[in-house]
Amino acid sequence: MEIITWTLGPMANNVYLLVNDYEKSIVVDPAWEDEFIVQESEGKHKPIGLILLTHGHFDHCLSVPYIKEKTGAEIWIHEKDEEYLQRISEKARSEFGIDIPMKDIKVEKNLTDSEIIKWGDDEIKVIHTPGHTPGGVCFLMDKILITGDTLFAGSVGRWDLTGGDGKQLFKSIKERILPLGDDIKIYPGHGPESTIGNERKHNQLLKMSEAELGLY
Ligand SMILES: [Zn+2]
Ligand SMILES: [Zn+2]
Repeated sequence: MEIITWTLGPMANNVYLLVNDYEKSIVVDPAWEDEFIVQESEGKHKPIGLILLTHGHFDHCLSVPYIKEKTGAEIWIHEKDEEYLQRISEKARSEFGIDIPMKDIKVEKNLTDSEIIKWGDDEIKVIHTPGHTPGGVCFLMDKILITGDTLFAGSVGRWDLTGGDGKQLFKSIKERILPLGDDIKIYPGHGPESTIGNERKHNQLLKMSEAELGLY
């Protein structure tokens, strides 16, 4: 699976396009530049056939309605984050003054832990990693892990937003992500790529105790 990264919008969101021999591509966490995402995928890669969401925060989902309308791609998200997705329009308006038409937002499938998504000859495994949001997931393919806002290079996702849970977040990272192996490359929702090995060795937040992190 080839992975194309676009860093878009005022929050520098990493939007990933997954392309292989299959006739359609997968977009992960599409936001901010609706037309660019559709034109670029169709013009240079493969048309989008599936929208996968690591979680339901608006900065990861803003382009979902547009892409859905233009391509008919299905929307897949964990059920515990589906309600966030339904609120992106009011968030976009209140925080950024952007109008997102919300018609036609219908989730076709709820992602479940350990499920395997088959796409052409490739497989993507869903790993439920709650903590940043209750329905946050990571996507594993070969030696690549898309981590959304769960794990960043040198940091972790916020746990103080609605639905966040710090204890759960660190548990997800330590029990579900780190054991995948040091050689796994991580592609976060914001910021540069890293590896699990790098984060295990150098991510200071992962070395802190719950008391030091203020988690009681
Ligand atoms: Zn988020
Ligand atoms: Zn984010």
